[in-house]
Amino acid sequence: MNNIQLEGIGMTSRRTRERLINRLREQGIRDEAVLEAMRATPRHIFVDEALAHRAYEDSALPIGFNQTISQPYIVARMSELLLAGGPLKRVLEVGTGSGFQTAVLAQLVDNLCSVERIRPLQEKARTRLQMLALRNVQYLHSDGGMGWPAKAPFDGILSAAAPEQVPAELLAQLAVGGRMVIPVGGSRGQQLKLICRRDENNYETEVIEGVHFVPLLSGTLR
Ligand code: SAH
Repeated sequence: MNNIQLEGIGMTSRRTRERLINRLREQGIRDEAVLEAMRATPRHIFVDEALAHRAYEDSALPIGFNQTISQPYIVARMSELLLAGGPLKRVLEVGTGSGFQTAVLAQLVDNLCSVERIRPLQEKARTRLQMLALRNVQYLHSDGGMGWPAKAPFDGILSAAAPEQVPAELLAQLAVGGRMVIPVGGSRGQQLKLICRRDENNYETEVIEGVHFVPLLSGTLR
């Protein structure tokens, strides 16, 4: 991919991206670091070329394997919630997907550990982040419902897929003082939750808003 492709033209140009940033502001995103990371991340390289002209619409788009790239608003909102407690050193992302949220987060935290159960998606994501010279990310092909025990504890956990209930493994791998942002629920509705671990046995949960995420599935796909 050359510079023109990365920079974008027409529907993928800087100006189109700037309009998306303005809309995110209107929708209530306040964290300037998050807005800057959104501005700096060329979403059009995270979708198929045929969909690139829609990359700066505020909507989820298909990325194959029945999965979607998250809506920009939700990526910004979740990043903002995760960072609201202060800087984060080690963060776990469940569901690499296209790598878009990964790329945004990589600019906002020191170390990012990203787990994805569908190998081809993760391989593509890895290539895209290399193109953007984002090097503080480690990838694991695995069931992210299990977390990443070898890297735990995490001071931040963000899930891009919705379990029916928050997996005990993720709760256990959250550091004391850490924050988890996760959609929870099934076909009858999902809610975005912010879970803060106050001490060893104490978790505080705040319901943020209703959301629509793909389900957190168990097992892996090669
Ligand atoms: N933020 C991503 C969202 C991708 S959709 C993006 O913007 O592209 C959610 C992703 O979670 C999918 O890629 C799906 O395969 C993955 N996923 C679902 N269940 C998972 C699990 N148990 N472990 C790891 N990844 C999972």
